[in-house]
Amino acid sequence: MNTPASRMASRSLVVAVAAALVVSLALSYGAYQLASYSWDQVVSYESPYDDVPAGSLRVTPDGAVARRVVVVLIDGLTAEAASRMDALDALAARGTAIDITVPQPSLSYPTWTTIMSGAPQQISGVTTNWYQGRVGVDTLLDVAIDAGRRTLVAGPSDVDVLFDGSRADASAFAEWPELVHDDSTYETGTIVDDAIALDEDLAAEFAFVVFPDVDNAGHAHGAASDEYAAVVDRVDADLGRLVEALDDGETVFCVLPDHGHIASGGHGGWESPVIHTLGVLAGPGVAEGRVSADLEDIAPTVAVLAGLPTPAHARGTAITGALATPGSAAVAADERHATAFAAHYVDVVSGMTVTPGTLDEARTTMAEADETRLAEERAGRLWMLLGAIALLIAVVAAIALLSWRALVAVASGVLTYAMVYNALFFLVHGYRWSLSAFNDESMIQAFFNGRMAEAVLAGALGCLVAAFVYPALRSRPRGVREGFGREWIALGVATALGIQATLAVQVGWFLYRWGADVAWHLPDFRAGFKYDLDLIQLAALGAVAIIGPVVTYLVGRLHPALRRPAA
Ligand SMILES: [Zn+2]
Repeated sequence: MNTPASRMASRSLVVAVAAALVVSLALSYGAYQLASYSWDQVVSYESPYDDVPAGSLRVTPDGAVARRVVVVLIDGLTAEAASRMDALDALAARGTAIDITVPQPSLSYPTWTTIMSGAPQQISGVTTNWYQGRVGVDTLLDVAIDAGRRTLVAGPSDVDVLFDGSRADASAFAEWPELVHDDSTYETGTIVDDAIALDEDLAAEFAFVVFPDVDNAGHAHGAASDEYAAVVDRVDADLGRLVEALDDGETVFCVLPDHGHIASGGHGGWESPVIHTLGVLAGPGVAEGRVSADLEDIAPTVAVLAGLPTPAHARGTAITGALATPGSAAVAADERHATAFAAHYVDVVSGMTVTPGTLDEARTTMAEADETRLAEERAGRLWMLLGAIALLIAVVAAIALLSWRALVAVASGVLTYAMVYNALFFLVHGYRWSLSAFNDESMIQAFFNGRMAEAVLAGALGCLVAAFVYPALRSRPRGVREGFGREWIALGVATALGIQATLAVQVGWFLYRWGADVAWHLPDFRAGFKYDLDLIQLAALGAVAIIGPVVTYLVGRLHPALRRPAA
């Protein structure tokens, strides 16, 4: 052990361990920074699409029939619960049932905004419930007020904040009810009372009413609970009361949820019960039947039925299958709006001037602009993926050069990590890569802390497995007591870095596909959720670079096969 060659090998191992430790801790720190940066990019995303004045995109539907429209938003109502509501059933029987697909993230502020504006999150800039102040996009309330219609708004005060609801001719706001496990805070009854009383005096031409209680029950008890079903029944009766009081035979009703709930309660993600909801349109001008549509198509449809301009920043278009006269002047105006909006959209995305003539052309040009810019940006970000792959190759090569046995041991540690971490995530907790995991916003920090703790645990177990595999590969294993302490420490650091390098490749893949910056296009949120979790694990594994070597050293000292004294 004391030849110049072995001294040099030993010294280079010390250098390699020190370098690996530095890389590991740098990855940990960088991942933590990137996680908060990326999260912030989504939360404080500023839409580049709403800068244009509403007036330049609105198309007045000359000669359109003006109708009184009442929009009722039932927050958090699943399709399954909606299909059991008598009041909705009665409306659907004389109108159109709409199978709605909700955009991501399926949180309340973003989806309320989509309902009122026809703009999904990418266009509205409302990506979370932390959005503050009035939305930047044009809404149904805006077009109704500007057209001189008598307007009525009733619901939780959030409606006032987001849409400046107090501008309406009549309005009533309640505080969002406390999340409690009894029904003492039920607000929908009062909201319906207020709406009926206000409408008696006003005879509103456009009304927007929001019911908060079903969502509350979903969060408190889950969508599969008896409590949820009981609140749905109560809301059903109140909805029936509202429709009966406001229906003068000339009124269009649009009743719909913003999103559903998973069975255990929660939304924000992409689960079917969350994003596939059921809405209803009924009244004059509405066809009878059943159609499918995106949530962004609701506002243009309501605008057409009301004889109002489609809100300026709407990307959706009127659901013609739900209209008794799909060739009306109002529909023609909505189509002109759609082509004008597509031109604006393409201008923002690519700087190109296009003049789509038809709805199909409008959709095609927008999709092409998206594809072209994404392809360009991906080409510019390819180095991020290649860099991460290069890191993984460098780590593998460095370990292999030092010892092929160590490489096999590290690989078994990496595999153990992946199995333990993912088994805990998917099997033990039953989580998915979905924002619906946060039933309540206060749970987010605890959720990420929990995943970090589990990453450390899984990483330590990975080091333990690597430390048992390593001596098993030798017929005559060499332990710490024989002067091989550095090797055993190196094994722990190498395992931590090996796990980090495999996670870094997954992070590199997301960065290549979507990037960390959110400037004009929102990432795929399922991939984004995984990306955040990968970064959180990367950050936590810095601790394993410290703990892991202790684990492997102790195994090297205490392993039964290594207890024999040196020969
Ligand atoms: Zn909710």
